[in-house]
Amino acid sequence: MIPFLEFAKLNAPRKKELMEAISDVIDAGHYILGEKVEEFEKRFSSYCGVKHAIGVGNGLDALTLIIRAYKELGVFQEEDEILVPANTYIASILAITGNRLRPVLVELDIATYNIDARLLEKHTTPRTKGILVVHLYGQVGYSDNMQKIADKHGLKIIEDSAQAHGAVYKGRKTGNLGNASGFSFYPSKPLGALGDAGAVTTNDAELARVLRALRNYGSEKKYHNKYQGVNSRLDEVQAAVLLVKLKYLDAENQRRREIAKRYLAEIKNKKLVLPHAAYDESHVWHLFVVRTKERDRFQEHLLGQGIGTMIHYPIPPHKQPAYKEWNNESYPLTEEIHETIVSIPLHAMLKEEEIKKIIEACNMFA
Ligand SMILES: *Cc1c(COP(=O)(O)O)cnc(C)c1O
Repeated sequence: MIPFLEFAKLNAPRKKELMEAISDVIDAGHYILGEKVEEFEKRFSSYCGVKHAIGVGNGLDALTLIIRAYKELGVFQEEDEILVPANTYIASILAITGNRLRPVLVELDIATYNIDARLLEKHTTPRTKGILVVHLYGQVGYSDNMQKIADKHGLKIIEDSAQAHGAVYKGRKTGNLGNASGFSFYPSKPLGALGDAGAVTTNDAELARVLRALRNYGSEKKYHNKYQGVNSRLDEVQAAVLLVKLKYLDAENQRRREIAKRYLAEIKNKKLVLPHAAYDESHVWHLFVVRTKERDRFQEHLLGQGIGTMIHYPIPPHKQPAYKEWNNESYPLTEEIHETIVSIPLHAMLKEEEIKKIIEACNMFA
């Protein structure tokens, strides 16, 4: 059986190093906001090429706290509008509504599945204050055109980099494209912890200062609370794990790129629409998503060959019960995508014979 993904396989080659890093934390005895968090924040900010990285509890908190910090700084107000792709993972939307701002859903570009930058201005109103750009499936969604629109209308660009650690656009990495960026280190992500973890990156010193306070009860000085903050600190043990895993991030991204290149060259089946071929560093191939009108049959076929698949994601945010007010709205492209997409296994620890088997099974689907 080739499961879609096994967390244990991703970490098995690093087990000894991870055990040592965790053991160091136990011995150091500084379990909350200790040396490992500080070192990880330094290393990760320099990896992304930004001035500040702030470790937080998870990816949703990273995004939520960025918006919260902009509210504390008077940049965003409640009811302000944020442009966001209609086909994103629910976390991007929750970060906006959790702050009582308004998500304005924008359709995707069918070539990349990322937000269609050509539609941004059409959705911009005097209340629009930001763009939440999601680098979906590992491919950069930011562009010079997007930046031009943001500059013209005075919009902040917030990156949702939860799927695209290490992806590069014109020499700059995700995390260093917009005004601030939220990362998730959920175990399956390109940089994955052994539990929940996240970070914000930014070049904005003021924003970084507010974020450091917000993640720690709103306090800059112990027991002095400047803001009504939350407890969303990056865990010391997870920071130790991430320091180990960060060393392998580029190599693992490159490995997934190579496998994606093979899939794109060797999967030949008229019933499958393959993703846009991006072989350069703008894509880290977090997911390899194909489209087919016969999705159920395709998934059954692969399962029959011992290959697991997943759907990212089966229901778009505007059709979720959590957002009843949007359930009758129509985003045709987003809806079509959600009915036809399916992700096939692609991770850095796939073996050669597994890659061959996946390609063959896709080609056999009739
Ligand atoms: C995983 C993910 C998140 C949320 O990250 P968590 O760490 O699970 O909270 C946000 N946005 C996108 C696009 C994601 O894939």
